[in-house]
Amino acid sequence: MDTRELVIIGTGPAGLTAAIYARRAGLDALLIEKGAVGGQILITDEVENWPGVARASGQELVDSIYQHAMGFEPELLRADVTGIVGQGPYWGVVTTEGEIMAKTVLIASGASFRRLGCPGEARLTGMGVSYCAVCDGAFFEGEEVAVIGGGNTAVEEAVYLTRFASKVYIVHRRDQFRADRVPSDRALSNPKIVPVWNSVVESIEGDNAVEHLVLKNVKTSEISKLPVAGVFVFVGTDPNVGYLNGMLESKPGGWIVTDSHMATSLPGIFAAGDVRDTPLRQMITAAGDGAIAAMSAYHYITEKGL
Ligand code: NAP
Repeated sequence: MDTRELVIIGTGPAGLTAAIYARRAGLDALLIEKGAVGGQILITDEVENWPGVARASGQELVDSIYQHAMGFEPELLRADVTGIVGQGPYWGVVTTEGEIMAKTVLIASGASFRRLGCPGEARLTGMGVSYCAVCDGAFFEGEEVAVIGGGNTAVEEAVYLTRFASKVYIVHRRDQFRADRVPSDRALSNPKIVPVWNSVVESIEGDNAVEHLVLKNVKTSEISKLPVAGVFVFVGTDPNVGYLNGMLESKPGGWIVTDSHMATSLPGIFAAGDVRDTPLRQMITAAGDGAIAAMSAYHYITEKGL
C-alpha cells in the first residue's frame, strides 16, 4: 500500500489552501471529500470580506480556490472518512473507498451549523436566512431582522447586527439567555434590541425572500407573525469530528485543540479551520490555518526523516 505524505480530510478553504501549500512544498497530498467541494461557505450568497475580491458568492470563491488548488495537481478522492487508526508515526485513514496510509493527516472537516429544522428554513437559506452575521449583516442596512437563540453567539451577533439593522429581535425559547452576564446585559441595554421570550419559530415565510416568522409562545401556545427581512440562526454549531471517536484532545463540544502550528495532541495529525478550537471561524482564518498546517506537516516529515 502506498503511503501518502499528507492526507487532507475536507475541501473547504482550510483543506484547499493546505493542498496549495503542500503541493508547492513538494508534498504528495491527497484531498478527501464526501460531499460538495467547498464546505460551509457554499451556503453564503455574497462574501465581501475575502481580501482582493470586493464581492462574490461563496460558490464563485470556492470555484476559484478549487481551480487554483487543482492546478497544483493534488489527488482528490471522493469518499467518507470513517476513522483514523494506528499509533504513529504512520496513520491509517479509513474511508469508504479503503484504507490510506499517511505520514501526516490534516483534519479540515469543518463544522455544521445546527439548523432549526422548521418549514421555510432550507428554502430561504441565502435569501434572508443566514448563519453568519459577519458575512451577511451588512446586507440588512436599515431593515428589521431576527436572531434565533440565547447563547453567547446569539447575543453577541445580535449586538453586531445593530450596526446595520434598524431593529434586532432576539427570539429565545426561554425567558432568560444562556449567554454570559456581560454580553447578555450589553444586548438587553441596546435600544435596537428587542427580546422575544418563551418563543420558538414555527416557520419562516416569504416567496423569494424572508418576509416574516411564525412564532409560537411556548407558555401560552399563542401563534404570532413577526415581520422581518432577515433571520440569523444561532442555535449552536457542531464540529464534524464523529469519525475521530474522541482520539484527539478537544474542548467541550468536540472542538479540536491545536498549538499555533496547528498540531493536535497526536504526532503527525494536524487540524485547521472551523473544526479547531479557535476564536474566529471565517474563510480567511480557515485558509490561514490551512497554510500553517501544510507547512507544519512538511517540517514534521523533514525533521522526523519520514
Ligand atoms: P450554545 O451556547 O449552545 O447556545 C445555543 C442556544 O440556542 C441556546 O440558547 C439554546 O437554548 C438555543 N437553542 C438550541 N437549539 C434550539 C432550537 N432548536 N430552537 C431554539 N433555540 C435553540 O451555542 P453558541 O451560542 O453558538 O455557543 C457555543 C459555545 O461557544 C458556547 O460554549 C459559548 O459559550 C461559546 N461562545 C463563547 C463566546 C465568548 O465567550 N465570547 C462567544 C460565542 C460562543 P437554551 O438556552 O434553551 O438551551
